[in-house]
Amino acid sequence: MDMQSSFLDRLFDSGLLIDTGVDGLYGRSGQFEDVISAFERLIDKFGGADGAEAIRFPPGMNRAFFETSGYMKSFPQLAGTVHSFCGNELDHMSLLKCMEVGDDWTKDQQATDIVLTPAACYPLYPTVAKRGAIPENGALYDLQSYCFRHEPSKDPARQQLFRMREYVCMGSEKHVTDFRQSWMDRGVEMMKAVGLDVTIDVANDPFFGRAGKMLANNQRDQNLKFELLIPITSVAKPTACMSFNYHQDAFGTKWGLNFADGSVVHTACVGFGLERIALALFHTHGLDVKEWPESVRKTLWG
Ligand code: ATP
Ligand code: ZN
Repeated sequence: MDMQSSFLDRLFDSGLLIDTGVDGLYGRSGQFEDVISAFERLIDKFGGADGAEAIRFPPGMNRAFFETSGYMKSFPQLAGTVHSFCGNELDHMSLLKCMEVGDDWTKDQQATDIVLTPAACYPLYPTVAKRGAIPENGALYDLQSYCFRHEPSKDPARQQLFRMREYVCMGSEKHVTDFRQSWMDRGVEMMKAVGLDVTIDVANDPFFGRAGKMLANNQRDQNLKFELLIPITSVAKPTACMSFNYHQDAFGTKWGLNFADGSVVHTACVGFGLERIALALFHTHGLDVKEWPESVRKTLWG
């Protein structure tokens, strides 16, 4: 058995994750959630004094905003849309018949106005754009959302519905790149405080197709994305538990995010993969939190 499925089996056996019959879709135990809550409090401790505006969106977003975002251009393979039955009684009868005989009953489902949120920051940009000009000294937001990505896997660290905590910064190029650098430093410090071995490396998003290869290379060449990596199911290929993204003025231009003088703002975001961080902790310190090193317990629970 490979490392990924054996770690997944141990997580099921311990009850930390709960099998639903779908790869990448799991229930979480109270203990697992308690680790995530404790780690989020640690994030607050590091980031709280920055005065970010906290906003929580549900795990679905306005389909029109999703279309504008260009997600289907870059990552069609990962997107999830919400469809519903919108027919009449006759349609309902034929749907039930389809189900009864085991035919595909989903083919007549209609797209709704909602798609599943692919990253916590996606609903933010249009929301902020609607408010008007960005202050001269920048703006900072604190987000957390369940995110959907269609990437079923036996690797417990690659889930289809998982939580991302994010800080999003808008402002001048210097302002947002300083923000990103400060979180790279903080990320390393935080992980050290909970006894995790980390490296930081340049990275790229999983752009779709042949044209996507060029976009990925470009992203790397320009150092637009970094990841903080921690070994979970492989030491040779550690898992991205945080990402640090500089969008230049791409999102500012797309969404019309401007300073009062009309110039376009730059944006950057820092994301914590909360399930991945919890899994890194369980993998490193063991499945029983009572056995975790005292210093780690103290950092998380005081
Ligand atoms: P990967 O290269 O591992 O697929 P990514 O580049 O898709 O990661 P981002 O889009 O930067 O990741 O997402 C921000 C963070 O969300 C990641 O650093 C990671 O911690 C977490 N994350 C991303 N995809 C998943 C997933 N499928 N399951 C659990 N956490 C995830
Ligand atoms: Zn990914």
